[in-house]
Amino acid sequence: MLGTMQEWPLLCHKIIDHAGTCHGDREVVSRSVEGPIHRTNYREVRKRSLQFAKRLTMEGVRSGERIATMAWNTWRHLEAWYGITGIGAVYHTLNPRLFPQQIIWIMNDAEDRMLFVDLTFLPLIEKIAAEVPSLRKIVVLTDAAHMPATTLADVICYEEWLAEADDDFDWKSFDERTAAGMCYTSGTTGDPKGVVYSHRSNVIHAMTSVFPDVIGMSSGDSMMPVVPFFHANAWGTVFAAPMSGARFVLPGPGMDGKSIYELLTKEKVTVTAAVPTIWLMLLQYLEKESGKLPDLDRVFIGGSACPRSVIDAFQTKYDVKVRHGWGMTELSPIGSVCVLNADHDELTPAERLDVQCKQGQPFFTVEMKITDDDDKERPKDGKTFGRLKVRGPAVVDHYFKRRSPEQFGEDHWFDTGDVAHIDEHGYMQITDRSKDVIKSGGEWISSIELENLAVGHPQVAEAAVIGVPHPKWDERPLLIVIRKPDQMPSREDILGFMQGKVAKWWMPDDVVFVDSIPHTATGKILKTELREQMKDYRLPDA
Ligand code: AMP
Repeated sequence: MLGTMQEWPLLCHKIIDHAGTCHGDREVVSRSVEGPIHRTNYREVRKRSLQFAKRLTMEGVRSGERIATMAWNTWRHLEAWYGITGIGAVYHTLNPRLFPQQIIWIMNDAEDRMLFVDLTFLPLIEKIAAEVPSLRKIVVLTDAAHMPATTLADVICYEEWLAEADDDFDWKSFDERTAAGMCYTSGTTGDPKGVVYSHRSNVIHAMTSVFPDVIGMSSGDSMMPVVPFFHANAWGTVFAAPMSGARFVLPGPGMDGKSIYELLTKEKVTVTAAVPTIWLMLLQYLEKESGKLPDLDRVFIGGSACPRSVIDAFQTKYDVKVRHGWGMTELSPIGSVCVLNADHDELTPAERLDVQCKQGQPFFTVEMKITDDDDKERPKDGKTFGRLKVRGPAVVDHYFKRRSPEQFGEDHWFDTGDVAHIDEHGYMQITDRSKDVIKSGGEWISSIELENLAVGHPQVAEAAVIGVPHPKWDERPLLIVIRKPDQMPSREDILGFMQGKVAKWWMPDDVVFVDSIPHTATGKILKTELREQMKDYRLPDA
């Protein structure tokens, strides 16, 4: 027997309808690409999204067609997402930090039909547009006054394009499993792979993001996603903030410490989200300028392991709560969050910090386990490492145009490629990527744990650990360090600092000082490249 309740499809545009109707006056504040701060509200964003949707249909865009965006977080980018999804088309965010050849490859794989691009990235698009034959029109996200001269054909200024339609439009209606958005993995191994989010997965993920123990958002909040919309589905914030009615503050191209600080304080942001490198930069800025964060209540940190020193600084110096989360493009993207609860009341401050360095518990809708290489589940004892596998309604089932049997088992457990342990309370801690874990004498050493420890040294700016060949142990850890400006810590200083904080056999065999460490387009250490750079290095005793 079926229930007798209504079928109400979970569609993205229902979110902006809700925000526009129930939280219509709530501000959407953006640092525009042209410079000034721009102010609008959810009522206007909804109206312009409807206008956008109508204008797209005038282009002949049909359901399922991919519409690319290469843009900062602004109100125009926001209305583009809702306008695109509102007719069943698919927003496809492009990461401008990728190599041009990768962007061309991705756009051709996605067969993008139109592109909405910020002024910042027009020179890049001028170089590559000819190599994307599916692309029929490029819309520059600006007004007539700022429209630059360009060598491209079929280019139009956004405000003029949008003005050709009015907002008298009804959203299209369709199955909630319809594709809504698309994002490619960063492709550190092999070609990038497309993940296609559905309306249903986006709406479910937004509902879980606003849970108090996830990002947590309400109509009393001012939410600022510093994480770009083009990184892993904007961490779901484009849907979660309007769904909760939170005021939305969008940093546009201002990604430096000063610009972020300015918005955090002037716009009284209460909750924000970004990768650890952004927060390291902000903390350095605060230190230098004696800044304060009186309105900020919590900061969501994910994308790579958050150093203990960052969690500690936010909490003890600035009285800001830290939510350390784990996720990935393949998950919409948040999968777990670390929140302290009554179970931790008895712990000392140092022990509480230990817990907060973990990536935390999966929330309702995410199932999680660890297995060995033969798919046998490993114990949840907080020590034993295993391959991290997840499943749920906002977890990828297969990649765009591809099905890979190794990653998607018949039981739908997705192998994340991460290595983790899970404790008896379900708190998960990432110990490595499966490709980066150091296999020494048949045991696994976590490169991430060693990196976190090394960056805790006050004179270390950044650290990376890779496994290098060893005749007896197969691999041993090598620590690669960038020193802070004007600081000259020695190999012995750093190893001495780490001594006693990890098992003896985990200690790096050597330290190499460098001026730079390669990163991926999403800010992660590019270990493949680092291993290549260090291929001629020999350990002292090897
Ligand atoms: P991306 O799809 O670019 O967001 O990358 C996802 C990957 O980033 C994950 O599979 C993890 O390896 C890593 N990652 C994300 N969040 C964390 C975290 N809090 N700690 C450690 N690694 C993380």
